[in-house]
Amino acid sequence: MTVLVDHDLLAFDREHLWHPYTSMTAPTPVRLVTGARGCELEVDGAWVVDGMASWWSAIHGYRHPALDAALAQQTGRFSHVMFGGLTHEPAVGLGRRLVDITPEPLARVFLADSGSVSVEVALKMVLQYQRGRGRPERTRMLTVLGGYHGDTFDCMSVTDPVGGMHTMWQGLLPDQVFGPQPPAYDADADAIASWASSLRELAARHAHELAGIIVEPLLQGAGGMHPYPAACLRVFREIADEHGLLLVFDEIATGFGRTGHLFVSELMTPDVLCLGKALTGGYLTLAAVLSTDEVARGISASESGVLMHGPTFMGNPLACAVASASIDLLLSVDWATRVSAIGTRLASGLAPLRTAPGVVDVRTIGAVGVVQLDHEVDVVAATEAALAAGVWLRPFRDLVYAMPPYITGPDEVDRLVAGIAAAVSAG
Ligand SMILES: *Cc1c(COP(=O)(O)O)cnc(C)c1O
Repeated sequence: MTVLVDHDLLAFDREHLWHPYTSMTAPTPVRLVTGARGCELEVDGAWVVDGMASWWSAIHGYRHPALDAALAQQTGRFSHVMFGGLTHEPAVGLGRRLVDITPEPLARVFLADSGSVSVEVALKMVLQYQRGRGRPERTRMLTVLGGYHGDTFDCMSVTDPVGGMHTMWQGLLPDQVFGPQPPAYDADADAIASWASSLRELAARHAHELAGIIVEPLLQGAGGMHPYPAACLRVFREIADEHGLLLVFDEIATGFGRTGHLFVSELMTPDVLCLGKALTGGYLTLAAVLSTDEVARGISASESGVLMHGPTFMGNPLACAVASASIDLLLSVDWATRVSAIGTRLASGLAPLRTAPGVVDVRTIGAVGVVQLDHEVDVVAATEAALAAGVWLRPFRDLVYAMPPYITGPDEVDRLVAGIAAAVSAG
C-alpha cells in the first residue's frame, strides 16, 4: 500500500514538477523524503545522515523542539499580515536581534522573502544610493569571477559568467565588471598582492561608472566552494572607499557561523549585508538586507525618497518568529566549538582522499568539507553510492562536499566522510 502511494507521488512528480536545475523532459531521479529529525533524513524509507543541511540552511537539524514551538506559537497568534503600514513583534524582535549581532554600523534592516530577492534589494539600494548622492551615471557593479548570488536576472548578472549563463542571456543581463577570482585560501602574500593589484587597476579604470562591489566574503559557495584569504576582504573595502563605491557582502551562505565566524562581516564591515539560508534555521524562506545609516540617507536623498521595494510577504511573522528562535538557539549553545569540531573531523577524515584517483583538492573551512575532482561528478552514481553508505549528498560540477547541521556528532561526521569517499569513487 505505502509502496503504491510512494510510487504515485514519484510518478506525478516526474511528470509535473520542476526541480532545481533539472530537465522536465528527461529528469534525473528524485527520491522521496518521508521524515526528518535531528541530523537525519528518511529517504526512500531509510534514515540517512544529512550532509547538506538543506542547502546550508538547517543549522540546528530537523524538528528542533524550540523552533517547532516558536512556529506553533506564532501560528496560534497570526500567520501573516501585510507589512505596509503595519508592524508586529516578530518582525521587530528579529530586527533587534539582527542589529545586535551584526557589526555596529549595520543598523537598518529590510526583510525580504528569499536570498535572491535580498540581493535584488541590495543592488537596488546601491543604485538608489548613488542617485541620491548625485551620481546617477554609476550603474555597474564590480565583482569577482567564481561568485554566486542567486538565480533572478540581476543576481545572475553578478554571478560568475559561466555559472550565470551569460552567453545565453547576452543583451538581457546588466553588464557588470568582473575581476579575477580571489586566490586560494593557502595563497602566499605575493599571490594575494598580484590579485589585489589587478583588481585595483580594474576598479580604477571603471570607477566613473561603478556603483558598488558585491562579493561573498571569505568563501565563494555555489560558484565553486572556494575559500580565500581574509586579507582579500580589506582589498574590497579599500577599493570601495577609494572610489566612493558601496561594499555589499552576500553572506546568505556564510552567515550564522558556517565559516567559524558568526558573520564574516566581523572581520571587515560592509555597507550592505545580505543574510538568508540559515536565518530561519531552515524552516521557512526569509532573508534580510542590513545597511548603514549612510546608505539609508543616500537612498532618501534620491528622487523617489523611498526604497522602491515591498514584497507581499515582507516580514512574514511565522518566518520572523522562527528566525528569532533560531538565533536565540544558536547563541545559547557553543556553536563555534561545534563548527570547529565538525571541521576538524571532516578535515582529518577527508585528508586521505587527497591521494585518491581523480581527486585534485581537499579543503575545509568552518563546518564545510570539500573534495574537488578532476572531472564533472556523475551526480546520479555519486548520490546512489552516498545513499548506500547511509548519507545524503548533492554534488555539483566537479565537487563532492558536505556542510552538515551543527548538531552533527562525531559518529555522524565519520559517516559523512565514508559517504563522501563512496561518492568520490563512484562519481
Ligand atoms: C543561495 C544563495 C543565494 C540565493 O538565495 P535563494 O534563497 O536561493 O534565492 C544568493 N547568494 C548566495 C551567496 C547564496 O548562497
